[in-house]
Amino acid sequence: MNLTTEQPAADAAALSERTIASLMADVLRQLGEDPAREGLAKTPERFEKAWRYLTSGYRQDVQEVVNGALFTVKYDEMVIVKDIEFFSLCEHHMLPFFGKVHVAYLPRHKVVGLSKIPRIVDMFARRLQIQERLTQEIAQSLEQVLDPLGVGVVCEARHFCMMMRGVEKQHSGAVTSAMLGAFRERKETRDEFLALVRQHSSEF
Ligand SMILES: [Zn+2]
Repeated sequence: MNLTTEQPAADAAALSERTIASLMADVLRQLGEDPAREGLAKTPERFEKAWRYLTSGYRQDVQEVVNGALFTVKYDEMVIVKDIEFFSLCEHHMLPFFGKVHVAYLPRHKVVGLSKIPRIVDMFARRLQIQERLTQEIAQSLEQVLDPLGVGVVCEARHFCMMMRGVEKQHSGAVTSAMLGAFRERKETRDEFLALVRQHSSEF
């Protein structure tokens, strides 16, 4: 055993004995605040509770979310769920980014209950993320669960880390996409999806 590997583990053990709330009281002090004043007295506990919820996606997996809601069908048209609202947290600044996700897939032999798709989006959004990975993870999990002919995911989001910090305000909106299978290989499929996404596109 050498000290250089043992030391961080010891620090981590010491840290894990402290609650997020007590650590946040220290953060408030570091920021020049008085965590004992009336308005802040319960803020560290509220922060912990909020952040446990906002990162609850770490404690879920796709199988649990889908929970067997898979149905065998003879349906080979595109299934599309548009305008799924999401709120996530950028892993670089731990500030929110939020927007809409549009999901489509071409069934091979199975479809998933429609209400499950927003729940899959939430599961990945409630983790520290970057928009690109969030988009990919949604697409890959549907591919894994459904074995479809293809999956397309488009994500439109605005990032507080850009909007609030006064940097690159004009670039605070970003669009990412992930195209798998037929959506990657067939231009007509991809174009059909993108046209449906643009139809009565929201005020976003
Ligand atoms: Zn950021």
